[in-house]
Amino acid sequence: MKKGLKILMIGAHPDDNDICGGGTALRYLENGCRVRFLSVSDGRCGHHRLSPEETARRRKAETAAVAKLTGIEYDVWDVPDGEVTANLETRRRMIRYIRAYAPDVVFTHRTIDYHPDHRNASLLVQDASYMLTVPNFCPEAPAMRHMPVIMFFDDRFKNPVFVPDVVVATDGVIDKKFEMYHCHTSQMYEWLAYTHGDEALVPADPAKRLEWYRSPRIPRDRALTLAEIMPNVTNNHNEYREAIPAAKYRAELIKRYGKAGERIVFAEAFALSEYGAQLTEEKIKRLFPL
Ligand SMILES: [Zn+2]
Repeated sequence: MKKGLKILMIGAHPDDNDICGGGTALRYLENGCRVRFLSVSDGRCGHHRLSPEETARRRKAETAAVAKLTGIEYDVWDVPDGEVTANLETRRRMIRYIRAYAPDVVFTHRTIDYHPDHRNASLLVQDASYMLTVPNFCPEAPAMRHMPVIMFFDDRFKNPVFVPDVVVATDGVIDKKFEMYHCHTSQMYEWLAYTHGDEALVPADPAKRLEWYRSPRIPRDRALTLAEIMPNVTNNHNEYREAIPAAKYRAELIKRYGKAGERIVFAEAFALSEYGAQLTEEKIKRLFPL
């Protein structure tokens, strides 16, 4: 283990972490770090044909497939989908959970997200943050001696607009990130396709599905501008959608990677929470060796 960092991504549903931070998680793994994903809810509502129980069972199996593919440890709590609330009981559970793992960096949603589960998962993390180091709160779980850095996932919401503090290039792991999407069959090829009215477009042959999902492929020889990218974005997290952050945060990529930043096609962006440990340039180098 080169860096020995412990990374924790906390999303509301089984796939949120994959979508928002999957590439960064893979880059941490490449650097010898340990990565854990937590889905606070069981994802049981996200299907139009299966029962809630069957949906939750499939979602869990899909996270196990991601774990097997990547080496990410993937936990799924039994909170029913749509019922994530930032109540005291779940806050205590979150504090015990984070303390037991003692991560260096925690990633989660912002609280202005459209989905109540996303907002409440974020609130749970933020409500837990200060108390992580307070021994007399949840004394049954030893308090942490260091406050982790807490980062928010990028999103499209504008009030307030997302301003990144760290932007991570993911070109080298993009194939594997798409394989992670591919593991979430009931989501990417069934439920989301249904909600977007795209069910008829999903290839019946499972072998052709992944190529359909990521298409159209984006050129790799030069970085495109947002104006070139947007007309090719589909309902899927296709290559063009995955290319949006690099185009949007080009200046940050050049600041971080120098001249190489000009040609980066894929990236993921994160903003710092003021409730966790704060970042310095030295700390960014140490905690984001990516
Ligand atoms: Zn979600």
